[in-house]
Amino acid sequence: MEETIFIKIVNGKIPCNKIYEDDKTLAFLDINPVSEGHTLVITKKEYKDFLDVPEEELESLMSTVHKIAKAVKQAENAEGINVTTNIGKAAGQDVFHVHFHIIPRFSEDGIKLWPKNKDAKSNEEIAQNIAKYL
Ligand code: AMP
Repeated sequence: MEETIFIKIVNGKIPCNKIYEDDKTLAFLDINPVSEGHTLVITKKEYKDFLDVPEEELESLMSTVHKIAKAVKQAENAEGINVTTNIGKAAGQDVFHVHFHIIPRFSEDGIKLWPKNKDAKSNEEIAQNIAKYL
């Protein structure tokens, strides 16, 4: 499999603006930020997306996401933060190495996220169907 850009960053083959690292995770600035302070948090091991991360790696990943989101919010004096991960091309994923986006937000920043959608089925039916897969 061809190396992703993020594994090259982990291995020091290409540079990044590093914010934090520990033995399992790494946080660095996004090269093409949505807003100032836009940070990515990744696992050092290569997993293609969030659903691919084994349970034993989740605690360290989410702990770093939490720590970095707090630091970014303070550093940027942000009113809010979006913490998001894209899973699959259809969801906007371009780099197939799990990463969380931490994006500082302000009430007047003009960024629009999710359009509302009318469900064809009832929410009750949808909830019951999803619960079958747990
Ligand atoms: P996604 O669309 O969720 O896969 O997001 C990938 C993100 O990686 C984008 O926001 C890119 O701007 C960012 N990105 C790509 N290459 C680099 C790089 N070399 N250093 C930092 N961020 C990068």
